[in-house]
Amino acid sequence: MLRVSGIKLSLDEDKPQIIKKICKKLRVNERDIISWKIFRQSIDARKSNVIYFVYTVDVELQEEKTVLNRIKDRDVTVTPDMEYKYVRPGNEILYCRPVVAGTGPAGLFAGLLLAGMGYRPLLLERGADVDSRTKIVSRFWKTGRLDKECNVQFGEGGAGTFSDGKLTTLIKDRRCRRIIEEMVLAGAPEEITYSYKPHVGTDILKTVVKNIREKIVALGGEVRFHSRVTDIIVERNNLTGIVVNENEKMDVQAMIVAIGHSARDTFAMLHDRGVAMTPKAFSIGVRIEHPQELVDRAQYKQFAGHKRLGPAEYKLAYHSPGGRSAYTFCMCPGGTVVAAASEEGCVVTNGMSEYARSEGNANSALLVGVTPEDFGGSHPLAGVEFQRRWEKKAFELGGGHYGAPAQLVGDFLADRPSTVLGGVKPSYTRTVSPGELKNCLPDYVISTMREAILEFDGKLKGFALPEAVMTGVETRSSSPVRIQRNDHCCSSIAGLYPAGEGAGYAGGIVSAAVDGMKAAEHIIMKYEPMVKQP
Ligand code: FAD
Repeated sequence: MLRVSGIKLSLDEDKPQIIKKICKKLRVNERDIISWKIFRQSIDARKSNVIYFVYTVDVELQEEKTVLNRIKDRDVTVTPDMEYKYVRPGNEILYCRPVVAGTGPAGLFAGLLLAGMGYRPLLLERGADVDSRTKIVSRFWKTGRLDKECNVQFGEGGAGTFSDGKLTTLIKDRRCRRIIEEMVLAGAPEEITYSYKPHVGTDILKTVVKNIREKIVALGGEVRFHSRVTDIIVERNNLTGIVVNENEKMDVQAMIVAIGHSARDTFAMLHDRGVAMTPKAFSIGVRIEHPQELVDRAQYKQFAGHKRLGPAEYKLAYHSPGGRSAYTFCMCPGGTVVAAASEEGCVVTNGMSEYARSEGNANSALLVGVTPEDFGGSHPLAGVEFQRRWEKKAFELGGGHYGAPAQLVGDFLADRPSTVLGGVKPSYTRTVSPGELKNCLPDYVISTMREAILEFDGKLKGFALPEAVMTGVETRSSSPVRIQRNDHCCSSIAGLYPAGEGAGYAGGIVSAAVDGMKAAEHIIMKYEPMVKQP
């Protein structure tokens, strides 16, 4: 196949024009083309008077070599082999099924790979299945009754289930395409295979995770909900067993620990059992909300609202002369700010959208980087305590019951408390209390956010809109710890494989899934399958 890039379509041109443009570029007739498939679609909105869709397309032709030699165009190359390569099973004997703790992206994709290769994994998830979880989360948003085991962080699908379902990642890895293809098989829209900024939204993600779970089970795996790994049994530095829900003991030789960044109790248990871990830098801040129309206008100018463009996104970064950095993160166009707590007496914010991204506000995390030097202690879990400190302050300021403190951007910049909120209605799924965010975030975070907002206003017109609203606090941007592991993805305890975001090796749905697959591959390369392959 040949890969043809740089095919541009204006907003008024339809997809069938792609093939015409390819024929022109390759100087071939349409009948010479056997098949074609879009590999990537992106938007070029850099010019003020025109917006293009830019395509990279894989084309199957009769005489590919001849065409390639004749064209001599940097935009025409041979399509690289991007297929996922399965690893070869090892020959050590597994006496018991491999266990995967957690069914977030890391756990699900680890489980899927293990099941597909005959290892009959047992997946243990502390929260509920996704349908029951949806009801429990809705109840929390309505009443403020938090379920510590099942919430926006915990339950089937992991932290990303109630999310925008953005599938962008900075990592380049063959496994990424495999993951996207699996998600399409599980019900995600085909466009995620080629969109430059793929997203599925909470509504579709719920179906996707359920279908992946059903596939794991069909392949010989087992998934148990309401099953928290509460202890590990270690003999001579080898994992030999685990305890589930404090009472069920199981023999286990190999376990992938894909517990996410919020399993504070499990981090503490692993630390107590001698699993080596270190504190890790992360970021904290707030969610900031603007009218989506404002973002559309800033990004797409006169084309704002065009039906082929959808709601616009942004991604901004600022480096303060003081040395701190601020950036926007996990932007949710047409989305909602969600109450994402998993611990009693703590307020945590995050963002989600449905596939349609049709809500009136755009929200994004506005974060400032913090490092272990800020945590006020050298304990490996000092970052957890640091997060908790600000989450508790936010809980108090939010008036209890998981309401959150909020402040208008105009008041925030003028360093005065907000007393009423106005033009931009906060979408936070619990109540908000107008006040001052400086009472629930460190000074250096506040001052860096102030500088950043003014700087971002120059890049995205209206970012400093006085009525835009900030809701705090967002503390779970990534894991506050890194669980040490070697080149075989194994921790300081043999048989224990930390993976995904919580272990400190991923950030986001796709990279966590990739990391889960990596850990599973190491188990596969070491052990024989439990079921002989035909
Ligand atoms: P998690 O998804 O956190 O999964 C860990 C799982 O382990 C959980 O289900 C938990 O219940 C379970 N668990 C914990 N402890 C135990 C235990 N002891 N025993 C058994 N089970 C346990 N990323 C994106 O790429 N795009 C987005 O649009 C996006 N939006 C987000 C929106 C929100 C509201 C949130 C909270 C996160 C969002 N993220 C997004 C981040 C993304 O969800 C995470 O990076 C990703 O889910 C990490 O995957 P993971 O499998 O490593 O961990």
